[in-house]
Amino acid sequence: MTLDRANREKLVRALAGTVIEHADELTSLDQAIGDGDHGLNMKRGFEAVLATLPDLADKSLPEMLKAIGMTLVMKVGGASGPLVGTFFMELGKALPEQPARADLVAATDRAINAVKARGRSEPGQKTLLDVLVPVQAVLANGGDARAIAAEAARAADRTAPMLAIRGRASFLGERSIGHMDPGSRSASLLIGAAVTTLEFEANT
Ligand code: ADP
Ligand code: MG
Repeated sequence: MTLDRANREKLVRALAGTVIEHADELTSLDQAIGDGDHGLNMKRGFEAVLATLPDLADKSLPEMLKAIGMTLVMKVGGASGPLVGTFFMELGKALPEQPARADLVAATDRAINAVKARGRSEPGQKTLLDVLVPVQAVLANGGDARAIAAEAARAADRTAPMLAIRGRASFLGERSIGHMDPGSRSASLLIGAAVTTLEFEANT
């Protein structure tokens, strides 16, 4: 995969597009076990990211990811803003300009550890880590874009029967069971958009 300027712009538009398109769904998920702002939070953040195009895509991949992360930290708000923003910033710090799979594996590992530290959380607590961690394992095991996107969707589904132990949903105790975690759903959408865009480019 060659991440030239056109591909970087395409990637940003795909990430923002899926969040904006699914904002209502993310809101309803957060209405069920949170305060109903996750769709709006994420939409606001990614609209702010889109507003930094075309300059954003002029940057190298690492600089672009750091800039996206900073915008998300500033604009998303809620518990998810600092976590999703940190994830992008750490990827930016760790990745070279033209990453190979091994670089992505190492960078996602570092980014996941940063999210864990910031959220004081671990997988199994019904948060976006329940998507990030299993998806990273598929990446590390050589899975292709289709396998990664499929695992992201399945991992988000698997959060439904979990008991929330972190974040606002944890205030509901047992009543958090039976609903998909909103942050897991948005993480799965972002991962799906990223790998689909990159695979398309890799095959052309
Ligand atoms: P808020 O909960 O402040 O309203 P959002 O609704 O935007 O923020 O985001 C909620 C999502 O953030 C949750 O669905 C969960 O995935 C994630 N989250 C919340 N707290 C944590 C945490 N401590 N560690 C990891 N993820 C968390
Ligand atoms: Mg919320």
